[in-house]
Amino acid sequence: MGRLAGKKALITAAGAGIGRASAEAFAREGARIIATDISAEALAALKGTANIETQLLDVTDPAAIAALFTTHPDLDILFNVAGWVHHGTIETCGRDDWDRSLLVNLTSMYETSRAALPNMLAHGGGVILNMSSVASSVVGAPNRFAYGATKAGVIGLTKAIAADYAGRNIRCNAICPGTVDTPSLQGRMSAQGDYDSARQMFIARQPMGRLGTAEEIAHLAVYLASDEASFTTGAIHVVDGGWTN
Ligand code: NAD
Repeated sequence: MGRLAGKKALITAAGAGIGRASAEAFAREGARIIATDISAEALAALKGTANIETQLLDVTDPAAIAALFTTHPDLDILFNVAGWVHHGTIETCGRDDWDRSLLVNLTSMYETSRAALPNMLAHGGGVILNMSSVASSVVGAPNRFAYGATKAGVIGLTKAIAADYAGRNIRCNAICPGTVDTPSLQGRMSAQGDYDSARQMFIARQPMGRLGTAEEIAHLAVYLASDEASFTTGAIHVVDGGWTN
């Protein structure tokens, strides 16, 4: 029997990268998945996968979140994966970049968690997993001003939910990856002009001398979503190739 057999999970940003690897890993472990993403093209890659249903969802649209969660009142697991990287310091982070970082990285999790929690409580419990980053309150990373601030906010949101609901069978944890080879990381490396030196810079952050894979993050997510993790809540789960050791 799979480690997530009998569970129903909704995952945001499931069309690519860590979200997609997690949707596939959760489904292999027997969960029924609502894989959501802003991109129909990205979701198309998951169509036809056993145990996975796809739904368009832009996490910056509160009305769409409310509508979708109403149609899934029986979720056991919410995995908030969607995030956006603004590259820059406070000096180069305009108000639009700041507002977008807050909206995609933090307010989205407020909206989805608020939509999922009452139903989880009504049916006896649930798991909320939030994607943070080591670039947060764990460590300051250069040119990650708005990203680091909002990912630190994700840790605060996670701990606050965990504290309020620990006695009511809701577990809420944060995952903090180091640098992971995903389509968006590839985009960030290309955007820096010199792809090879950008790649070397990103690899150098990990003492293991390599980038992480989306599957390595998905393994941790499977554990945290499963009943095997029944005694962990409000915790920062670092998976970073030794970056912050
Ligand atoms: P990614 O950025 O490569 O792609 C994820 C998906 O997000 C895409 O399919 C895209 O269509 C979707 N998406 C974009 N905007 C959206 C929106 N508004 N609503 C819904 N979906 C949207 O993914 P990734 O690199 O795997 O990152 C996933 C999460 O992990 C993010 O929160 C990111 O900050 C975090 N993270 C990534 C790394 C890394 O090195 N890749 C490290 C630490 C944390």
